[in-house]
Amino acid sequence: MVAKSEAQATGALPPADVDPLTGVVARQSFLNRLETRLHSEATPRFSLLLVGIDDFRAFNDMHGHMEGDAILLQVARRLRDAAPRDAVVGRVGGDEFAVLLTSISDPTLVRHVSAAILSMLSAPHELNGRRHHVLASLGACVMPTGGDTTSDVLAAASLALARAKHDGGRTIRFFKPQMRTDVMTRLSLVQALREAYAQRQFELLYQPQVDLRDGRVLGAEALMRWRHPTLGLLAPAAFIDALAASSVAADVGMWLLHTACAQARAWSLTFPDAPRVAINLFAAQLSESRLLTEVRHVLRALELPPDRLEIEITETIALQQGDEVSGQLQALRRDGVTLTCDDFGTGYASLSFLKSFPVDRLKIDQSFIRNVTQDSVDAAIVRSVINVGQSLRIGVVAEGVENAAQREFLLANGCVEAQGYLYGRPMSADLLTEHLRHQPR
Ligand code: C2E
Ligand code: CA
Ligand code: CA
Repeated sequence: MVAKSEAQATGALPPADVDPLTGVVARQSFLNRLETRLHSEATPRFSLLLVGIDDFRAFNDMHGHMEGDAILLQVARRLRDAAPRDAVVGRVGGDEFAVLLTSISDPTLVRHVSAAILSMLSAPHELNGRRHHVLASLGACVMPTGGDTTSDVLAAASLALARAKHDGGRTIRFFKPQMRTDVMTRLSLVQALREAYAQRQFELLYQPQVDLRDGRVLGAEALMRWRHPTLGLLAPAAFIDALAASSVAADVGMWLLHTACAQARAWSLTFPDAPRVAINLFAAQLSESRLLTEVRHVLRALELPPDRLEIEITETIALQQGDEVSGQLQALRRDGVTLTCDDFGTGYASLSFLKSFPVDRLKIDQSFIRNVTQDSVDAAIVRSVINVGQSLRIGVVAEGVENAAQREFLLANGCVEAQGYLYGRPMSADLLTEHLRHQPR
């Protein structure tokens, strides 16, 4: 019973691609489009909105399925009217619709579109001379936070929608990575982390650090992910704080030291100019007196030259350490391990700190890079960190470089090394190996 005009509005799709009841794109076809969009660029910039009707089951029970169907049809029409011209509107569940905003990934804009949609849906529906008030909730997933696969992205938007409903309905919620673990209590999260370690569910991805002048890969930062059996691939934001505070941290830390060094060793056997591998330390690892012996042991056992390992330690964590820990880290520096101050500029006492805690490199935090070409304060901070590095004759690496303008700014101001989506997202070791294989010698 699909009116001809409805089918036309979906761009004259083949019948199987159209949801027969509402005329919008059918579930499978919608997922295919999502998949295509997801893989159309290295860092996908789009948003997925999931719209659910609040208490739709109750409406059906009270008014019958015919009226329920009529409501779904009207909701679908309104969605198409409210969505931007290039958006794809689909029906992905009984009372769930999805809107693919193919080129919008600015949260303010997403909120704006979402609010317009909800406001259009909140107008009363006239059915057979009767008025019905049907309210809806909306979950938004702004990419690239949702993950790398269609099901990850869909699950992300679902979590946001569930939160919107849980918070009383007729409202909008944005997906945040912590939502994936919010279902667990603190205690069961720690328990799950312990299990994850035992079951080898942690993985390391590697993000290239490049020479800004020619794009060559100089290093790679190892970044952790948790491949959870039911929740999917979890980013650190979903678990790293709980992990760092738990008793599993020291073990996981040792595992990642081992894994990253083994990878560095593999690269050093294959490539004459193999990248140095950087790891992030947990505070818990520092308080262990075995840190120094453990790192030395791993390097020796793997026959990895110490200058292929870099240790990143945040300014905040470094500041909390006593002389004993500083002594251990300085001993590693003398061995040839590179010590880098991570998130530089976000802590306190940056400058005097460098005197008591010498490092080889400063890593400019991405929060300063994000708006460096528009914000004069950020620009001044970045310039002065670069100056500090130059005066102290230590390296400076910028984090979070996403576009050419940021790259030009850094080069113009004397910073020649950076890491960011412009050069590559955190990727599997295999993928980075491919990348290294194809880079000019
Ligand atoms: P971090 O050490 O500051 O790591 C950089 C984070 O910025 C990474 O997020 C990386 O994916 C992200 N990033 C890099 N380039 C860009 C960019 O151009 N744009 C944007 N928007 N983001 C970019 P990730 O992997 O989610 O890690 C988040 C944090 O989790 C890390 O921040 C670190 O504090 C912690 N973490 C991750 N892996 C480990 C680990 O193995 N050990 C420890 N101790 N902490 C880890
Ligand atoms: Ca880091
Ligand atoms: Ca950072």
